[in-house]
Amino acid sequence: MGQVIDKTYNGLKVPQGEKITFENGKPVTPDHPIIPFIEGDGIGRDIWKASKRVFDAAVEKAYGDKKKVAWFEVFAGEKAHNEFKEWLPKDSLDALAEFGVGIKGPLTTPVGGGIRSLNVSLRQIFDLYACVRPVRYFKGVPSPVVAPEKLDVVIFRENTEDVYSGIEFASGTPEVKKLIEVIESIAEGKKIRPDSGIGIKPISKTGSQRLVRRAVEYAISRGKSSVTLVHKGNIMKFTEGAFRDWGYQLAEEEFAAKTISEEKLWDEHDGKVPSGKIVIKDRIADSMFQQVLTRPDEYSVLATTNLNGDYLSDACAAQVGGLGIAPGANIGDNCAIFEATHGTAPKYADKDVINPGSVILSGALMFEYLGWTEATNLIHDAFGKTIQQKVVTYDLERLMDGAKKVKTSEFADQIIKNMG
Ligand code: NAD
Repeated sequence: MGQVIDKTYNGLKVPQGEKITFENGKPVTPDHPIIPFIEGDGIGRDIWKASKRVFDAAVEKAYGDKKKVAWFEVFAGEKAHNEFKEWLPKDSLDALAEFGVGIKGPLTTPVGGGIRSLNVSLRQIFDLYACVRPVRYFKGVPSPVVAPEKLDVVIFRENTEDVYSGIEFASGTPEVKKLIEVIESIAEGKKIRPDSGIGIKPISKTGSQRLVRRAVEYAISRGKSSVTLVHKGNIMKFTEGAFRDWGYQLAEEEFAAKTISEEKLWDEHDGKVPSGKIVIKDRIADSMFQQVLTRPDEYSVLATTNLNGDYLSDACAAQVGGLGIAPGANIGDNCAIFEATHGTAPKYADKDVINPGSVILSGALMFEYLGWTEATNLIHDAFGKTIQQKVVTYDLERLMDGAKKVKTSEFADQIIKNMG
């Protein structure tokens, strides 16, 4: 089963298996890929144990002994700090860099000094520029809306720019004073209150287009109907508006044969989509929040800037049952990390009660990314069946009539049983 890689990271020997490699930003998956995992802090421990069993069962069911993941533990967060006195050891980063694709549970953000957020650090170190959040409904999950099943979108959120890039200046500092002077001298007639703090919002053509490229490629490869560029370009013309323009430009320059803009669709085709074409459209962010509630079935892949994407992904996740079951991925050209979208919920740690859905579905997303779609489908089907049987963890049980409350581990058992 794969070659022997005679190396250790954090004192652990690399398991026998093969490396995932990348071609043009896409993974090439061997049959026995070495996949590093970070189990995560707090509830991460319970969730990882349960999720790993589901992953292994799905792969075995789908491929027998032809394919198998060689899981390799790497350390970050509290576990790393306890064992190595470091929140994010270099060996963990080196292992993720070497093996390319990883999966992680939630990590505690260290309070006071040191690294600001381990999640943000990982995204920056590996240039994971696309935050991918699929949002779909599983029948039976309690939802606050009338027709949650109509929402089935995949959100591609730019991960490296926007007001998130951390270029901020505090009110009253010499830096902000200098900035205000410069801005007022070049922005005609504009005044900034002297007691302002200032955050900078860079949006580049490079950053926007590589994100939109991924979204369009995803839509083409999965036979999706449209890609919607979500922006606030009516107000922020040279950042959000430019994101929209660069998105349309990229679709026309690189995917002309496979895409059509909404404008052309109406001007030249009377609104009828030519066969084999994906519609590229755009919506202003505030309108998009209305549309996902009022006309959810008109949207499929959404590509957006960082801040819009942050709000939009949580709002959409809430619509189909919340963060406890929302999967996520951060994807770059040479690395991808799949992760829980919720935090470490410390008060539930080691109680075997929490919902492992977010990591389980993140794993399903990882298998889809790796091209192991049979495993993805098995997980989705069995997960959906388990919910419909009303065998659920406490968070869903308290919102469902006649449901059976089970532990994290029992929920995983039931999913595995439902693969049979
Ligand atoms: P949290 O998501 O950990 O918990 C908030 C509440 O949500 C919990 O008390 C629980 O009631 C519920 N909840 C969360 N996950 C659940 C699940 N899987 N099943 C059922 N219920 C669930 O958010 P927080 O309390 O703001 O953050 C706690 C810690 O987690 C902080 O250190 C924070 O920095 C970190 N955090 C990490 C990530 C990440 O690693 N991706 C994300 C968010 C927060």
